[in-house]
Amino acid sequence: MLEERVYLNIGAIQERSIANGPGERFVLWLQGCLLNCPGCINPEFQPLVKRVILSVEEVFERITKVKGIEGVTFTGGEPMLQAKALALLSEKLKKTGLTLMCYTGYTLEELKTFNNYWIEKLLSNLDILIDGPFILEKKASLPWRGSSNQRVYFLTPTYQHLQKFVESPLREIEFIVDSKGFLVTGVSFEELLLKLRETLKR
Ligand code: SF4
Repeated sequence: MLEERVYLNIGAIQERSIANGPGERFVLWLQGCLLNCPGCINPEFQPLVKRVILSVEEVFERITKVKGIEGVTFTGGEPMLQAKALALLSEKLKKTGLTLMCYTGYTLEELKTFNNYWIEKLLSNLDILIDGPFILEKKASLPWRGSSNQRVYFLTPTYQHLQKFVESPLREIEFIVDSKGFLVTGVSFEELLLKLRETLKR
C-alpha cells in the first residue's frame, strides 16, 4: 500500500540559529496564521498562501543533513495549523536525538479544548512549547518571547535547568549576513528594525 505524503507550507528556513531556543537550532517558519495580532512580529508569515511546499520526508532529510545542531524550532505563522505534518515530522526527528521546540499563538489551555489528535501528538513530542499571542501592550524583553503573557513550558526534563534563564530580562537577536542578503531572527520589534534599516542606509 502506498504511504500518504503529507506536506508542509513553509515561509522560511534557517539552517542554523542561536536566537530561537537553546543551543544551535534549525528553524522552520510555517506559513499562515489566523490570529492577526496587532504589531505581529512576523507579518510576512500571516497570509494563508502557498509558499514553499515540501513533504515531511523532504524537510526531515534537509534537517538531518545539517551537522552539529541541537534541535529544531517550529515557529511562524501558526505551527498548530499544520499540526499533522509537524507531528509526523517531530516523530521522526525525535528518534534522531534532536530536541524540539514550538511556538503557538494559542494558549496551551485553548489547544487542549480543540481536542485535536494531531495537536496532542505534536505536543507529546515537544521539549519546549511557547504559548500565547503577541500582545503589543505587554511587549517585553524576555528570552525567546515578545510579550510577557507568553509562557514557556518545559514539557520534558531536558531543558528544565533553563527555568531561571527564561524569567530573566534578556533579548537575543541574531543578524545573519550571507551571499543572499541580511536576515534578522529572534524576537525583534518593528521600531528596532526601522532604526537598523536607517543606520545601514547611512
Ligand atoms: S500568532 Fe504570531 S504570527 Fe500569528 S499574528 Fe500573532 S504574532 Fe503574528
